[in-house]
Amino acid sequence: MSAAAEFPNLHVVDHPLVLHKLSHLRDEKTHSNVFRALLREMALLIGYEITRRLDMTSKRITTPITEMEAPVLASVKPAIVPVLRAGLGMAEGLSELIPTAPIGHIGLFRDPETKRPVEYYVRLPENKNRLFILVDPMLATGYSASYAVDVLNKYGVPDAKVRFMAMVAAPEGMRAFNEAHPTVEVWAAALDEKLNEKAYIVPGLGDAGDRLFETS
Ligand code: URA
Repeated sequence: MSAAAEFPNLHVVDHPLVLHKLSHLRDEKTHSNVFRALLREMALLIGYEITRRLDMTSKRITTPITEMEAPVLASVKPAIVPVLRAGLGMAEGLSELIPTAPIGHIGLFRDPETKRPVEYYVRLPENKNRLFILVDPMLATGYSASYAVDVLNKYGVPDAKVRFMAMVAAPEGMRAFNEAHPTVEVWAAALDEKLNEKAYIVPGLGDAGDRLFETS
């Protein structure tokens, strides 16, 4: 089955600039400072697609020539919610695109034995029936992604009001994610081949958090 048929909720943004930057991101020789800049730039490009169908309204303005009813974003802005810590690198780019968007945080780490997410911090902006854009570069096992959506659901945010922005997704992760939240739309720069035995994405780009913050 083709990826498009298996994962109808996955949007792979295959814009030439995204693909070019992703190759640099994957390269193990790319230093953290460049990695950080690329992640931010790619979030801007992917974010452009994610925000294509935001709620709009209009307001009366006066141009130097005449009055007009001009389209503007609805007053309740979408929330940007990075999954800590790697999501921070992409949230920055998205926030440049929608500077008035409130920012929440969901802190999860992966238990090295079970590979399951463990929650350590959640802080979210007021619900107000707004759209919540979850941001996490690696959709690997799909456990953290599903868990993060569960957190939003518990906060009263239905799946229809959630979008997920990743950088690279694994087929195993998309399958697991779709078992839990099949209608949540996911955007990524690539659907990679598989997970390895340590649940890293292949070919992937390594540990996104470590590469972003130069830790190990
Ligand atoms: N998390 C990462 O940072 N990289 C992977 O490949 C998988 C999970």
